[in-house]
Amino acid sequence: MTRAIYPGSFDPVTKGHLDIIIRTSKIMSHLTVTVMDNPRKVATYDIEKRVEMLKLVIEPYKNVEVDYYKGLLIDYAQQKKIGIIVKGLRAISDFEFEFQMALVNQKLNPAIETLFMMTNSKYSYLSSSIVKEIAALGGNVSSLVPPEVHDMIISKFKLD
Ligand code: ADP
Repeated sequence: MTRAIYPGSFDPVTKGHLDIIIRTSKIMSHLTVTVMDNPRKVATYDIEKRVEMLKLVIEPYKNVEVDYYKGLLIDYAQQKKIGIIVKGLRAISDFEFEFQMALVNQKLNPAIETLFMMTNSKYSYLSSSIVKEIAALGGNVSSLVPPEVHDMIISKFKLD
């Protein structure tokens, strides 16, 4: 049984995240997508909303579940007894940070491996922040986010 965790802020979930979820779910027996409550990052959507959006999006994928966690990723993986952490990699800009995180986590617990999945070239430019920037300026984000959560995402920026 190969089980993995895909952690992130998912603030909000994008088509880039979903692509990683779908591809990972095909090569793992089970995938837990975990919204990490990171005290260093000021989130736009509260944790319940981010979990709710992810649950809508993963509905068709029966070996995927959504969870959330406040604390150290490596402690979470240990608690869940899951030995694989999956990260998405977009560009060189992701690499340096993710490389450091993977090595630190390896130091903290060598039994837990970090695997990197390369972005789909269609979504290599896509991030949650770019979605929020466009939505805040009234732009169309329908090609960037899963349709199930589109309205929930833009409702945050509606001025009425
Ligand atoms: P962001 O880095 O956009 O704030 P998250 O922290 O939610 O997003 O990202 C969670 C994980 O998903 C990270 O491993 C990140 O590198 C990956 N990821 C985010 N967007 C994409 C994308 N468009 N393609 C591939 N991986 C992505």
